[in-house]
Amino acid sequence: MNQVIRQSIVDPTQPQEATNSDLADGADLAAALSQQLDSLRLAGVNSLPVVSAVESDHRPAEEPAEEPKPTVPDVAATPDQNQDTQNEPPMPPTKRKNDPSKALQVICDEVSSCTQCEELASTRNKTVFGVGNPKARLCFLGEAPGADEDKTGEPFVGRAGKLLTKIIEACTLTRDDVYILNMLKCRPPENRNPLPGEMENCDGFLKRQLEVIQPEFICCLGAVSAKALLKSDLTIGKLRGEFHEWNGIKVLATYHPAYLLRNPPAKAEVWKDMQFLMKAMGIKLPKE
Ligand code: URA
Repeated sequence: MNQVIRQSIVDPTQPQEATNSDLADGADLAAALSQQLDSLRLAGVNSLPVVSAVESDHRPAEEPAEEPKPTVPDVAATPDQNQDTQNEPPMPPTKRKNDPSKALQVICDEVSSCTQCEELASTRNKTVFGVGNPKARLCFLGEAPGADEDKTGEPFVGRAGKLLTKIIEACTLTRDDVYILNMLKCRPPENRNPLPGEMENCDGFLKRQLEVIQPEFICCLGAVSAKALLKSDLTIGKLRGEFHEWNGIKVLATYHPAYLLRNPPAKAEVWKDMQFLMKAMGIKLPKE
């Protein structure tokens, strides 16, 4: 109070410290105060603002800061874009241990000397391992080689294969962008359906191929591969149109190109499946 009054009387613009003698004892202080009040009254000041010491000393300079809000991790951000996850170990992308071409060659050599299925091993001309990009994002999985594939050692090279190539190209891709393989690596005689025991025998090769390639997507061509991979009894008509999952890979089933040769109207359905697949892969198709 004393300081406030002294400042206003002496020089309101200059803050002044109280001296020791000012505050020497209560009597001096009371006398000084009374004198200053008289001066003020003479100057026409009849009232003074009341300043509470408690308020003035303890009022915070600013509104209290809001409680810090918990940060919500952005699920679309990569782990190191989220501060909260910075101390957590990032999910390591699955590392390819070896050169995938070499790893596939090792499996291919085993396939070519395989005799697990006596009948197939004794009637085949060539084993049909698979072709394409060993790091493909998308694998096309057929059933088993036919006569043309058995002759050449390459999957999907006959009439059905040519239609598959057209489908791949309509998706703005080439056979070299994707990987094409079959459940069975040997041709069943007379193109009969693969037997369950034959599928089992070949299953290990297929799994190892897919482990090496690490595709994000598998497109099963026809009921045989779709039902076997997904371990499902549903028809291809029921399985198609949505993604399934196999070992963390998105699986789409569609009609086999050989079926399309017999039933051309089904091509429209396959094209719908391809549009769905390409959208999921982030591949833009030209407008028709
Ligand atoms: N049908 C298949 O399922 N695979 C081939 O390689 C050829 C025809």
